[in-house]
Amino acid sequence: MATKGVFRVECPHCGEAFDADFWTVVRGDRDHDVKELILSGEFDLLMCPKCEGMFPHEEPFLYLDPARDILAFVMPESYAAEKEKWIARMQADYEPVRASLAANHALSGTPVYFFGLGPLTELLESDRDREEETEVMEFMAREAGLCLLAVKPASARQLDLPFTLPIAKGLTGRAAALKAARELLAKNDALLRLKNLAAALADGGDDTVLFLKDEASAS
Ligand SMILES: [Zn+2]
Repeated sequence: MATKGVFRVECPHCGEAFDADFWTVVRGDRDHDVKELILSGEFDLLMCPKCEGMFPHEEPFLYLDPARDILAFVMPESYAAEKEKWIARMQADYEPVRASLAANHALSGTPVYFFGLGPLTELLESDRDREEETEVMEFMAREAGLCLLAVKPASARQLDLPFTLPIAKGLTGRAAALKAARELLAKNDALLRLKNLAAALADGGDDTVLFLKDEASAS
């Protein structure tokens, strides 16, 4: 559901003014091609229809990925000089979008405000590395007959954990999760985030795993 808007821009090479399409809402979990453009740095590149020169042009947009708890208002880097003003304007402009997404339960995560694509790209790159390691761990977990529970994305980023944790079928406790993590680590000790998971689980307290997303996400 990438949503586009049209804005008038001027080519810095030849001065030609033309209408260009921009994404105003990007769903990271669905618009895979658009997400790739962000990761490759081509997202805000335009080509002049007259001289065919390429140039970057930033417009504000909303990036969201409910499964990963991302709700990011991304504004041009130049807006950073007047942060408060632009954050207020973004909130007002996107309130209808936000309200309809909230009604469809497609919204989660605390809103973040980025100036320039850099911070969003960093977040997506770091998530991609985490996803790759998570997939390897999940493959091993299934081979070992274990189940997987979703970890809160914010906790996964903060503690540098996989997006899911392995555990024996039907269980949700900390001791069982620690046992499963250690079982997989014994087979592959190169998974750094799985090591972090074992360390976080070993870190005392009662049998509750504090960073589980919810029990309904069990698979
Ligand atoms: Zn031009």
